[in-house]
Amino acid sequence: MKLVQFRAGELFGKRNGSPIGGKHPEVREEQALRQSGVRLFGEDLGFASRPGVLVGEEVVDLSTLASDVTEILAGGDEALEAAAILGEDAPRFPLSDVRLEAPIARPPKFLGIGLNYATHIEESGQSRPEHQIWFNKQSTCVIGPGEPIVIPTVSTQVDYEGELGVVIGRRCRNVPEDRAASVIAGYLVVNDVSARDWQWRTHQWTLGKSFDTHGPIGPALVTVDEVGDPHGLLLRTWVNGELRQQARTDDLVFNCWQMIAHLSSVFTLEPGDVLATGTPAGCGFAQVPPRFLAPGDTVRIEIEGIGSLENPVVGE
Ligand code: ZN
Repeated sequence: MKLVQFRAGELFGKRNGSPIGGKHPEVREEQALRQSGVRLFGEDLGFASRPGVLVGEEVVDLSTLASDVTEILAGGDEALEAAAILGEDAPRFPLSDVRLEAPIARPPKFLGIGLNYATHIEESGQSRPEHQIWFNKQSTCVIGPGEPIVIPTVSTQVDYEGELGVVIGRRCRNVPEDRAASVIAGYLVVNDVSARDWQWRTHQWTLGKSFDTHGPIGPALVTVDEVGDPHGLLLRTWVNGELRQQARTDDLVFNCWQMIAHLSSVFTLEPGDVLATGTPAGCGFAQVPPRFLAPGDTVRIEIEGIGSLENPVVGE
């Protein structure tokens, strides 16, 4: 199942002159009420953020089940089953008429592992780490597909990192490697955007990894049953259509199971936590000469079986 968070309504496009929200019974009813002169208070239904399931070129509305994807994950297998059943016949929108948002708007934790592909270790001039190197991305940096990555005025070295993201599905602690797969809800694409000047001026990377908008995730959270083994997926990153990164996720130094075993030996993992599993060679800083992101650029990251995440770059 491909879980998404989305908005639909008149704001997001009109086709043939009629508001697209009018196709959805719930929105149609609200529009009819408004047109008849009734004054409605509260958020316009047509614009509310809601969870859904991506089925081909349509998005099934799961708003009767939960208010967001994180709430569905917190509901465990039962909620996922309910989502699958609802996905059969709930109202749906054409994908072209909705705006997808980050599947998890505010992950309880958003962690990244550093130096986890041999090729990236080499381009960074580092040696293979003996221990897993983890840093925080503040959860306020999350944005969704299509939302702009902002180059802050205080940095001149903003860079992309295409990564496979693991999303936790169970509250857990002390998970052994051979059970790690059972605590994962699914996977998504992460762009671990990094302000290199800020990242490298101190030993701790958190500030350089946490600027607002520097955590694009999406486009969907693809559940484990659909992905199977997450090791061996083709990952590619393009900037303005030029291929910059290309690797398979089985090139990881520490694999997904080892990451979960390691982290959960320290703290509790919770539904909605996002783990960025590292980036391969081909970052902007390692190009000769270095090529950092600039306003007007577009970064697209695609992972086989997971999807494609594209974000424009703008100045602050
Ligand atoms: Zn990274």
